[in-house]
Amino acid sequence: MKVKGVGASAGIGIGKALKYHTLTPDLSSIVTETPEQELARFEKGSVKFVEEMRRLYAKTEKKLGKEHAAIFDSQIMLLRDVELQEKIRDAIAAGSSASQAVYDVTQYYVQTLGQVENPLIRQRAADALDLQNRMIKILFGMQDTLNLQLTQPTILILDELTPSVAANLDTTWIRGIVAEKGGFHGHALILARQMAMPVILGLEDAMMVLTEGSLVAIDGISGELEDDPQEESYQEWKEKERDWIRHQQLLASFKTKKSVGKDGRAYKIMANINNVEEAGMAAEIGADGVGLFRTEFLFLGKSKIPTEEEQFQAYRQVSELMKGKPVTIRTLDVGGDKPISYLHLPNEANPYLGYRAIRYGLEHPGEFKIQLRAILRAGAEHQNLSIMIPFITSVEEVMRTKQLLEECKCELDQQGIPYEKDYRFGIMIETPAAALMAKELAKEVDFFSIGTNDLTQYVLSCDRSNTNVAGIYSVFQPAVLRAIKMTIEAAIQEGIEISMCGEAAASAPMIAVLAGWNLTNLSVGLNSVWYVRERVTNVSKEEGIALADKVMQAVTREEVMKIVKQK
Ligand code: PEP
Ligand code: MG
Repeated sequence: MKVKGVGASAGIGIGKALKYHTLTPDLSSIVTETPEQELARFEKGSVKFVEEMRRLYAKTEKKLGKEHAAIFDSQIMLLRDVELQEKIRDAIAAGSSASQAVYDVTQYYVQTLGQVENPLIRQRAADALDLQNRMIKILFGMQDTLNLQLTQPTILILDELTPSVAANLDTTWIRGIVAEKGGFHGHALILARQMAMPVILGLEDAMMVLTEGSLVAIDGISGELEDDPQEESYQEWKEKERDWIRHQQLLASFKTKKSVGKDGRAYKIMANINNVEEAGMAAEIGADGVGLFRTEFLFLGKSKIPTEEEQFQAYRQVSELMKGKPVTIRTLDVGGDKPISYLHLPNEANPYLGYRAIRYGLEHPGEFKIQLRAILRAGAEHQNLSIMIPFITSVEEVMRTKQLLEECKCELDQQGIPYEKDYRFGIMIETPAAALMAKELAKEVDFFSIGTNDLTQYVLSCDRSNTNVAGIYSVFQPAVLRAIKMTIEAAIQEGIEISMCGEAAASAPMIAVLAGWNLTNLSVGLNSVWYVRERVTNVSKEEGIALADKVMQAVTREEVMKIVKQK
């Protein structure tokens, strides 16, 4: 059977289908049985839950040590809590289904514990939420397949591709992802691309139509999927896979080449990274630096805020791995599609317009300063770190952040702790407000980095993770191009450095237009560094100017696309 979704991350993947539910099941669909049957279901589910936690404990202890594994022990303790047990049993006796009872009682814990000041008690709320998710999945008979030990090439079939799934992929065996839903410009996909993981999105009935264990081949460019390909077709897929690998190998020759445009201009082709390991990869593939370290991923995998020491160690290692090359560390960009349960962000109707990134930091200066101190200290040895603030919408936010940095420096001086004195301080331009105020903002900072993923979302009022409006989302809409151009002009006029770190920095037509606008610092996914280096060798400033002039005369996206098509 052949079906077609939308290619979302390039590559060819062939493997056995493995289904995984990322969404919490719909509780309203349950048929409640007798209290005895529901109680038996709860007890059986509890046994399975404890087994799963023990297995995860052992796996995590082996990989990361006892301290990290302890979270699974506390989950078991919470489930065995006398009061919680009593409440669940009472609810079942009163006619609730096992799932509904688990949901209601754990929800009560999530809400009441989440309000408490003491962070240790608040942590129990996050445990309760985790317990809720896992137990309900178990009661619905959904296996936590992502924790299975894979032993063969696998194509993961998901209801929704979420950042937490993308961050936990077993890249040794998972060869591709097919998801019914998932934002085309959200973080989950950015992560998948980073890992060179082929992805197809928008295959609506994938979870129903595809059979667990059957052979599946996918093309992450065209969006084609073939289920159970027969011999001839299977050989064609293998050939496609070999072609793809050859293409990747050709690009590998750009590892050691200098980043120089066709006109001889020096470029900086840097990497976007999410953790220390990826900094190692950035160094290994010959990136000219790290243009964006998304530090929220240090926070996402944890059960509590990483300490100053933990953060310091991570940033220091990145600085060390990239020594001699610049590294831009972006402060925590929480909120939007990256909720972090232990930070207890409020439930918001519009998280992308709410309590996100710098807004959270400035409201929690204690937590924010831990990160700022860690970054300042981490640059002491190699003096190559820059601090970058996400989601800026006003000059006040920049001033308040600078004030906090001053406080951190004073404290470090008083404590006699070494830190990088000449660090560079910059901001992401990723909101229309920042683009409109670029000239004023440029007077306050050393550099801008244009975040086209969000800039596109906010200029077009188009949720980057919402498939319904994916057709509207485009960096080539004239309004977005104008916002980019005005940002670059302001930076150049004020004499500060300008770069781009959104996904568009890896788009060939965008690279050509940027050549005309004098933007030559590009930071892209690890998987795109060589490709972008190859692309810049194909475009000169003059060609870029001619192209950009034409593009700026276009008033529709279609016209823009026609003009840039050849690039
Ligand atoms: C962006 O918005 O373009 C960006 C680089 O940041 P993120 O994708 O992490 O929001
Ligand atoms: Mg952003």
